[in-house]
Amino acid sequence: MRLFVAIRMPEETAAAIARLQDEVPIGRPVPKENLHLTLAFVDERRPDEAEAAHEALEGLRAAPVEIAFGGMTVLDPARPQAVVLPVPETPALEVLHRAVMSAVRRAGIDLPRRRFRPHVTLVRLAGRPTPDEEARLARVLGRTSQSPVWPFTAREVVLFRSHLRREGAVYEELAAYPLG
Ligand code: ATP
Ligand code: MG
Repeated sequence: MRLFVAIRMPEETAAAIARLQDEVPIGRPVPKENLHLTLAFVDERRPDEAEAAHEALEGLRAAPVEIAFGGMTVLDPARPQAVVLPVPETPALEVLHRAVMSAVRRAGIDLPRRRFRPHVTLVRLAGRPTPDEEARLARVLGRTSQSPVWPFTAREVVLFRSHLRREGAVYEELAAYPLG
């Protein structure tokens, strides 16, 4: 099963993000209920590995974390794949990220080392935008870079199972782990 650990967007935050998504003229918006900040992509694992990850995550000890947002931007502008809201990497978020990664690794799951670039994906782009689309997108990003999405305090992290469907991924919450 395909697993990842993430922070859900609370209702009000998701509503504010949905208003930003409506401004983006191209791509496939992430459904409101799917909006999240990935802490660890665990990938395809056997059920016994999922169970071990769950047990390790039950031992997670970390404080609630304030999640703030930067202006809407394109991830990897050289090969644009998604419009995202970057999340500033605070010390508390870095500690939480490391704690989650360590828990999953303690479960015997080998996670590759990747740079942590916290963000919430808003819109997925299918293929390279045309010059016209790029221009329209640039105008929207210029206009909305100041639009605030208020910070919130994350009080739990969630282990999700992702079901990849042709219409888009469906996330199933397997378990939630309180912070603090
Ligand atoms: P789709 O791939 O159909 O667009 P999705 O990306 O929402 O759907 P998943 O691919 O299961 O669904 O991804 C779940 C989460 O894990 C997302 O936040 C995604 O960005 C992240 N993720 C997926 N693959 C990787 C990867 N190889 N490395 C890091 N993070 C990943
Ligand atoms: Mg994906």
